[in-house]
Amino acid sequence: MPKKEIKISKLMSDINKIKEKYLTMDMTIEEDYVFPVYISKNVMNDIEKLCKGSKLEIFGYLVGEILKWKDQKYVQIEDHLYIKGAVHSHQFSTAQIEGTAGKYEKKFQKLKKKKEDDSDIQLRIVGWWHSHPSFGVFLSATDIATQDFFFPESYQVALVVDPIAEVNAFFSLDKNANKGYKEVSYAIIQ
Ligand SMILES: [Zn+2]
Repeated sequence: MPKKEIKISKLMSDINKIKEKYLTMDMTIEEDYVFPVYISKNVMNDIEKLCKGSKLEIFGYLVGEILKWKDQKYVQIEDHLYIKGAVHSHQFSTAQIEGTAGKYEKKFQKLKKKKEDDSDIQLRIVGWWHSHPSFGVFLSATDIATQDFFFPESYQVALVVDPIAEVNAFFSLDKNANKGYKEVSYAIIQ
């Protein structure tokens, strides 16, 4: 599947501006299209940098909001969490991942409290990211098990980054799909 990465920075600086812009122009079907996932450029850059800096398969959490445009729901990733030493590979047991997941949950609660104190946003853990140094972007059986256990909500996605090949992809679980998951298109916003 081709990588569907669209940089829409030229038109608007954030998703709210997209809405404003679209509200004032004649809609076409294409312009009305909502990507299932929007991720801020800073967050993507940050994650890519972390992945580039480690030979190990590191992992972290994706934090954002569930928003709605017309009747289409989408995920907006606004932040990410990373705990040094958090590794996700098939050599690591579920118990090890669970231990780290507990730490991430605590870190998320702190961030949530800080960010929600003076705004009406509702932050959620919208998925996770991890690196596949040099072996491409897909979900392994271990990845599917992790997604299924720790990120079972339909809106939760998995971002896989191959820092050597410099490719990224988002996935979500799909029991009807061939391998049990599918690629999810996304847009990077400034
Ligand atoms: Zn993996």
